[in-house]
Amino acid sequence: MSEIFKGNFTQQEPIPDEGIEAALEVMRSGRLHRYNLVGDEVGEAGLLEREFAEYTGAKYALAVASGGYAMATALRAVGVKPGDRVLTNAFTLAPVPGAIASVGAVPVFVGVTESLTIDLDDLGNKVGEAKVLMLSHMRGHLCDMERLMEICDGAGIVVIEDCAHTMGAAWKGVPSGRWGVVGCYSTQTYKHMNSGEGGLLVTDDDEIAARATILSGSYMLYGRNGTVPPDEVFERVKYETPNVSGRMDHLRAAILRPQLAKLDAQCTAWNARYAVVEEGLRGTPGLQIVERPESETFVGSSIQFLLLDWEDSAIGEVVSRCLKRGVELKWFGGAEPAGFTSRYDSWRYAPSERMPKSDRILRGILDMRLPLTFSLEDCAQIARIIRAEVGAVYQGQGA
Ligand SMILES: *Cc1c(COP(=O)(O)O)cnc(C)c1O
Repeated sequence: MSEIFKGNFTQQEPIPDEGIEAALEVMRSGRLHRYNLVGDEVGEAGLLEREFAEYTGAKYALAVASGGYAMATALRAVGVKPGDRVLTNAFTLAPVPGAIASVGAVPVFVGVTESLTIDLDDLGNKVGEAKVLMLSHMRGHLCDMERLMEICDGAGIVVIEDCAHTMGAAWKGVPSGRWGVVGCYSTQTYKHMNSGEGGLLVTDDDEIAARATILSGSYMLYGRNGTVPPDEVFERVKYETPNVSGRMDHLRAAILRPQLAKLDAQCTAWNARYAVVEEGLRGTPGLQIVERPESETFVGSSIQFLLLDWEDSAIGEVVSRCLKRGVELKWFGGAEPAGFTSRYDSWRYAPSERMPKSDRILRGILDMRLPLTFSLEDCAQIARIIRAEVGAVYQGQGA
């Protein structure tokens, strides 16, 4: 009898008790809106901003309604206008081109390598096409950030980082989100901190921080935020910057603060799970591990592997055989968008030239979440199941 995994790939851990207590306190107070403060109280939203700025080493942090909202706000705050072209990854999730489209700009897709990072050669070829790069650290993979910044600085390109999967990660010790001019994070349930919905944005730039704060819906109460640029900066931008409400409330901030306090420990726990799955998959015939560079401090909240140059039907068979045994793999190469996955050619509002080298890689990417509710033994079992099913289909292919 072959073993079946019984765990749930979308089951996150409960909110820490301190977070539940703090949330109850906010609800008892009735003051949920971030600017509903008593006296010189900072409030949960402001405190979260201070703590997140400190965690990332940024001058400013802004708590907002979602990761997608943080990205759109960053684009507006750096001056992207309708019709502008914005470079971004071909391998990413729908909210990334979506954020670009939401400000009326046009995504220009850059290819992906077998390391699942942005293709820096392709980026080098396309730098003339835009003034901004929305760099998505998709599935937590960081590219050579020094080379990327060299290319972008050389071409006068402003870099915004989408750190939805890299909260807690770093390249050569510099946190993800701190290489570009703005870093954007999501605190949606499936990311590294969970407030249901939510997002954060960090920057060192006074004017970008002031614009983002007003954009987020501060009215003229921006002085009550957790991290606040100098008054004269607001004087310069406040009449020119629209209010596009997307604030975070105290309830979500209250839930997040205790999670931030234990984020590093959570990252260690994710990486222990990742290591077990990676070890269990290594050496499976036909399956390529995505090797992690030494300069990368990653957070293994999900794992990817490649079935390069496999027939679509064989990949489909691996996915369905694993699913029958309780292991949910997501196939980024599937022709039809499904669940959270979709290919760049599914975003028809942003037509792109085909990228054959990237298409070959995208077609072979399989992905799996590693929620912290899985034990290390669960992870070992998952790896055994994938190994067996990949092996069975690979042999059947007569490869
Ligand atoms: C989740 C996600 C986002 C956006 O986050 P939301 O909070 O859902 O808007 C952005 N980029 C990537 C790669 C994501 O996975």
